[in-house]
Amino acid sequence: TAPFLWLLRELPSQAGGGGWDFVTMSLDTFLEFRSLATCELPLQKKLSPEQFCVVREKGTEPPFSGIYLNNKEAGMYHCVCCNSPLFSFEKKYCSGTGWPSFAEAHGMCGSDESHTGILRCLDTSLGSAHTEVVCKQFEAHLGHVGPDGPRPNGQRFCINSVALKITPRKH
Ligand SMILES: [Zn+2]
Repeated sequence: TAPFLWLLRELPSQAGGGGWDFVTMSLDTFLEFRSLATCELPLQKKLSPEQFCVVREKGTEPPFSGIYLNNKEAGMYHCVCCNSPLFSFEKKYCSGTGWPSFAEAHGMCGSDESHTGILRCLDTSLGSAHTEVVCKQFEAHLGHVGPDGPRPNGQRFCINSVALKITPRKH
């Protein structure tokens, strides 16, 4: 049988005033718990409050405010959390929405997105259903994707500048 561990847990406030309690959990749950604690805390220190708000709390930077909106530099846009290459400057275009926009993710093969660094998730937090874009490795929130982009794939990835970090192309 799986070993059980005793851990302190904060009681949910609806349980009556909050407080602390001991819980048992399986080793798997404990490991998941521990990796969250050891990943999230350093991440919070590494990122600016604006970055943390976007990538971890699904915030959105104000439109027309991001540093990469009009950036035409040749290079690869990486995830600010895990450094995965996500979008190439070659697929960047001006969508007029106020966020850096890309026609496709880096690593696309035809219409196959499985080798890119991103995942799509349904996001209902904005009222109507949007498709959220997260990084595959860390599930960092990056932005949203819509079907009204340029041909041939017709995708419009609107990505927050603060979730990205460009690595300029070396010549
Ligand atoms: Zn990432």
